[in-house]
Amino acid sequence: MPAKRDQDFFWEAVDRSELTAQQCSDCEKRRHPPAPACPHCGSQHFTISRLSGSGTIHSWIISCHPTLPDPNPKTVILVDLAEGLRFISNLIDAENIRIGAPVTVEFGEVNGRRLPLFRTVKNP
Ligand SMILES: [Zn+2]
Repeated sequence: MPAKRDQDFFWEAVDRSELTAQQCSDCEKRRHPPAPACPHCGSQHFTISRLSGSGTIHSWIISCHPTLPDPNPKTVILVDLAEGLRFISNLIDAENIRIGAPVTVEFGEVNGRRLPLFRTVKNP
């Protein structure tokens, strides 16, 4: 059995439609993306914390970089999650893009891989 990688817990949670992050066992700060040590105190001890999946759009771009097999432009968003983390993803309903717009996570398949995506929330 291959050794676990730092990010395995994250993708296993995505397969269960859960958004998670590491939480330092010493200073209790959450971190994302997954890393072997806490960027705040250097501790290598952590637990897995489930996130709400709620946040607001901090910034966004339309990515027109040609990719295969998905040649369509993507709306790439930087989300300020309710738990204080920033998360990069894609916005499903790009027509509603706005800095500060409330969003919630929604899991979907992209090129055969389950991913955490986001959708704007009308009345949070
Ligand atoms: Zn820490």
